[in-house]
Amino acid sequence: MARIAADGETDVGGPAKNRRAEQRMALFHARLRERALKSTAPRDDIARVFFALSRHVSAEELYAEVKRINPHVGYATIYRTLKLLKDCGLLSERHFDEGQARYEVVGEHHHDHFICEDCGRILEFEDEAIERMQRNIARRLGVTLHRHKLELYGRCADCAAKAGDQDL
Ligand SMILES: [Zn+2]
Ligand SMILES: [Zn+2]
Repeated sequence: MARIAADGETDVGGPAKNRRAEQRMALFHARLRERALKSTAPRDDIARVFFALSRHVSAEELYAEVKRINPHVGYATIYRTLKLLKDCGLLSERHFDEGQARYEVVGEHHHDHFICEDCGRILEFEDEAIERMQRNIARRLGVTLHRHKLELYGRCADCAAKAGDQDL
């Protein structure tokens, strides 16, 4: 069964999503305490915006969003906090193709990505048949699979329509 989600299609202010963002904040604070670090206002603002956005965001995009709620946050703090969130296991860093790094919240479920080469839109999908095939390949090779990364590149439906692409 395939599930597809696109950036920007989710309801940012949805109550379920806010609850999830709050749970992640609580987890962030717990992880900071484990590391004997204290939570600071800029750090919290950055983490809160990151969790609330919940999409594949670049450091620049995150910086622009954080600026709207806290104009005093510097770019270096954004980077340090992204690294901290990664160390806390709450963020995963993606390097699609040659593009700049993008950051996403570590989700409850695994997913793969489609990246539009025209507009940069990122779609997420998961497909049980593909997952199963990868496990079969690992078995055939006699290897143990730890993780995988599947990235599909092409034109999204909107860009394909604009470009007049025919169905493949
Ligand atoms: Zn596109
Ligand atoms: Zn993703």
